[in-house]
Amino acid sequence: MKKTIAVLPGDGIGKEVAGGAVSVLQAIGERFGHQFTFTYGSIGGGAIDALGTPLPEETIELCKKSDAVLLGAVGGPKWETLPGHLRPEKGLLRIRKELNLYANLRPVSYYAATAENSPLRPEVIEGADMLVVRELTGGLYFGKPSERTKTDGEDSVVDTLFYKKSEIERIIRLAFELAENRSKKVTSVDKANVLESSRVWRETAEEVAKDFPEVKLEHMLVDNAAMQLIKNPKQFDVLVTENMFGDILSDEASVLTGSLGMLPSASISSDGAHLYEPIHGSAPDIEGKNIANPVAMILSAAMMLRTSFGLEEEAAAVEKAVEQVLESGSKTSDIAKKGQPTVGTAEMIEEIKATI
Ligand code: ATP
Ligand code: MG
Repeated sequence: MKKTIAVLPGDGIGKEVAGGAVSVLQAIGERFGHQFTFTYGSIGGGAIDALGTPLPEETIELCKKSDAVLLGAVGGPKWETLPGHLRPEKGLLRIRKELNLYANLRPVSYYAATAENSPLRPEVIEGADMLVVRELTGGLYFGKPSERTKTDGEDSVVDTLFYKKSEIERIIRLAFELAENRSKKVTSVDKANVLESSRVWRETAEEVAKDFPEVKLEHMLVDNAAMQLIKNPKQFDVLVTENMFGDILSDEASVLTGSLGMLPSASISSDGAHLYEPIHGSAPDIEGKNIANPVAMILSAAMMLRTSFGLEEEAAAVEKAVEQVLESGSKTSDIAKKGQPTVGTAEMIEEIKATI
């Protein structure tokens, strides 16, 4: 198979882990006889420094003509004082819009090798295996107006939660399709006791459910879902929810596995290349120290193999290699037991690659 992959390393540890995903994919290409071509683009703070914008046009073009996109992370203290439209994070919001990345998928599952780092008791998390499906291009983060105004002569402010019904249907349908290949349960998370948008969300979920008779649908209010996630995470299979609810719940769910450095994500496009990135940010506090955990980025590459290219065996080979290396005791400092020796980013990447 021949594929072109756009690589946007970004800032901070993004630059350190992106190379890990590329070398692991090269190893997969060699072992299974695929030809992956990598093309590099800039995004975030580095792009601001070099080109004066967090998302240069040529990066958008590069992504649009690629078969998939790998992204490291963007941002850092250096750019925090810039005006809003010039922040690295704007590049991220804009690429989601440009590539129509309407869904963010975050698998969260129990990992024996790192379970000790979870703040939750082993019996609570053992066997947990869920997929959070977050709507990514609508809802509260994109609704207009979003601005400061005056009301009765006083300063006031408005943000808007807006959806077209078709946008709600699209994300819920994807959640059901994904649930069909998992444990066949969808939990639709909303705030239907307060928000009109949530009432339409709930109705739409009921309508879509009719097309998936084998999948069980349940509704849960977002405040309850936040509690249930840490009280009894094993009850969940696929969760689907609005942009901001999903932002909060997916970060909360990530705590279950022990470290941010372990979790991959996929952002699904409605009409083009999907984008894969670790859920962690640029972690400026550990940048350049060769201690960042590359696993989240490498597992994101595995999601790419499976989701964009349909290469199940290859994806499983990456996941297996990661598991084997962790079980052999090689761990970066974020997931190592206290007092145990650790390996650096580069060594970890090298071991995973060699295992493949
Ligand atoms: P963002 O706003 O971009 O999401 P953030 O401020 O939420 O960023 P992260 O950059 O995700 O924060 O990191 C939070 C902390 O978690 C970091 O300071 C770092 O110590 C730790 N961390 C994040 N990713 C990793 C990783 N891959 N390996 C080791 N530690 C990590
Ligand atoms: Mg964050």
